[in-house]
Amino acid sequence: MTRAFAPGSVAFVGAGPGAADLITLRGAERLRNADVVLFDALADPALRALAPNARWIDVGKRGFVGVAHATRGGRENTAQETIDALLVKHAGDGKRVVRLKGGDPSVFGRLEEELAALAAAGIECEVVPGVTAALAAAASTRRPLTRRGDGRSVALTTAVTRDGKLGAGRHADTEVFYMAGKQLAALARKLVEAGWPATTPALVVSRAGWPDELASQHSVASLAEATLLHSGRPTVVTIGVGAEPIAAGARRARLVAESVAAEEARAAP
Ligand code: SAH
Repeated sequence: MTRAFAPGSVAFVGAGPGAADLITLRGAERLRNADVVLFDALADPALRALAPNARWIDVGKRGFVGVAHATRGGRENTAQETIDALLVKHAGDGKRVVRLKGGDPSVFGRLEEELAALAAAGIECEVVPGVTAALAAAASTRRPLTRRGDGRSVALTTAVTRDGKLGAGRHADTEVFYMAGKQLAALARKLVEAGWPATTPALVVSRAGWPDELASQHSVASLAEATLLHSGRPTVVTIGVGAEPIAAGARRARLVAESVAAEEARAAP
């Protein structure tokens, strides 16, 4: 068991990718005991039922009424400084504060800035992990991210660099790109430049983990075809070994081939 959720502290809780039942039991417990919940646009509204008595404050991209928004890189966002200040204020007032983040707080969640703000203010905090989008997409499409033999490494990568440019490399056998949904054609070009063969399997999944999830199968060369289908939805793009469908009987066929080879080797003079 973990320590109690003390007044005057912050719990960063990963909400998971969508459906409320993908939150962890620990995350749900923190919500149950929360006085204040600061949440993002991606979190499932059904999660509210887990903390009916808390004050819920929307700090996501949409509808954060009464607090100034800042524009960064062309996107409207609640100023990160405002979120940091709200965390410090409510915890400083002795509240149990849950900072609810989509997926996992440690993956592209700007957690470092919020942790630093709390550390500077001397406020206790903990991080409760969640199911990140890459894992939700792998699960619902039944495409394991690692494969025995040729799928030995996985990279979680943002396609967008700090200055808003698109970048892609080749870092692992399976690479999952976040925040690339709007730029699939450009991503495909960058992937080829980075050395991925044009025939490499590519899987595009939007709203992974939600009832209206969409998934489509491509190659790196044909990735741009997915643009329309997934437009306007949070999307992850899985490239490489982990994007390959598991064909019915593939494993059996491989086992048969292996045993035939072994048999032949034994029979060989
Ligand atoms: N902390 C989150 C990621 C936040 S960054 C996590 O761990 O999943 C936001 C990006 O995450 C989106 O641009 C998209 O690429 C991805 N994303 C978040 N939720 C998603 C979902 N349900 N399905 C597909 N991609 C998602």
